[in-house]
Amino acid sequence: MGNKVGEQGVLAGVIGYPIGHSKSPLIHNYWLEKYGIKGHYVPLEVRPSDFRTVIRTLGLMGFRGVNVTIPHKEATLQYSEHVSDNAAMIRAANTLAFRANGTIHADNSDGYGFHRNLVETIPDWKAESGPALVVGAGGAARAVIHTLLSEGLPEIYLVNRTIERAELLRNHMGNRVKVYQISRMNDLVKKVALVVNTTSMGMAGKPTLRFPGRRIKKGTIAYDLVYGHRPTVFLETAARSGCRTVGGLGMLLHQAAYSFNFWFGVLPEITPELINLVGNE
Ligand code: NAP
Repeated sequence: MGNKVGEQGVLAGVIGYPIGHSKSPLIHNYWLEKYGIKGHYVPLEVRPSDFRTVIRTLGLMGFRGVNVTIPHKEATLQYSEHVSDNAAMIRAANTLAFRANGTIHADNSDGYGFHRNLVETIPDWKAESGPALVVGAGGAARAVIHTLLSEGLPEIYLVNRTIERAELLRNHMGNRVKVYQISRMNDLVKKVALVVNTTSMGMAGKPTLRFPGRRIKKGTIAYDLVYGHRPTVFLETAARSGCRTVGGLGMLLHQAAYSFNFWFGVLPEITPELINLVGNE
């Protein structure tokens, strides 16, 4: 069966379509070198029609595993023999491991990355701090909401441009999630301890999202999953409204650390050098 370590050392990678934008090769190759593990982490551009064949073959070529990104995250579940509870609940996987017996194990590290980044940046955050307002109802929102509910949050207010998508998410996650029209953001924001942007608004080339409302509770946390060279407009306007802010880069690095540990059995350190390297790329 697969997974032999050849001359090339261990192999891992990230599959997406397109894949040119991914920062994962930079992160994982930094850690492979830092921990003296001989091997490579490579970007793999794979069309949806070829995805199943490719993931069935990579183990035979010596790959320990791959990260999976847009548009394959949902498709992974049907092709994997073992699906973690997290991935099943989120209905998407972003980390696959190819076992020596030929089976594929699927997991989702986004929730882990989201939570580790939150408590590291705001150590006094607790589920009891109050409800959260989540903007967006895509794959990232499912990971964030599942994590916040698992942490014990009593209530999550969910808004999305397409309200039907938010309602589907609520039907899946349960009635601690309350769905509102997106136009209600300005008054909902006054009632919460945490506001999370899980939409792609704020990414390069996309429209921006301003932090909603001005008269907010002292200590409100604004968390943007979008990451880039500088703080997003969402975080800049949140800081001006008096919020404590959390950027998406830490989430990216923590979810990557989870994957690295899943494949290589080492939970790698997120060093200031790595943060600079990825932040300035
Ligand atoms: P997705 O499943 O495609 O969902 C996209 C979400 O953005 C949907 O709620 C969509 O609303 C909303 N949206 C897109 N364009 C919009 C616009 N012009 N106006 C209003 N709403 C808009 O994507 P995803 O996988 O959830 O990812 C979302 C974002 O999270 C991306 O920026 C991604 O890079 C980021 N992310 C970051 C990390 C990290 O580690 N930091 C991890 C995962 C994801 P509709 O439903 O109405 O279309």
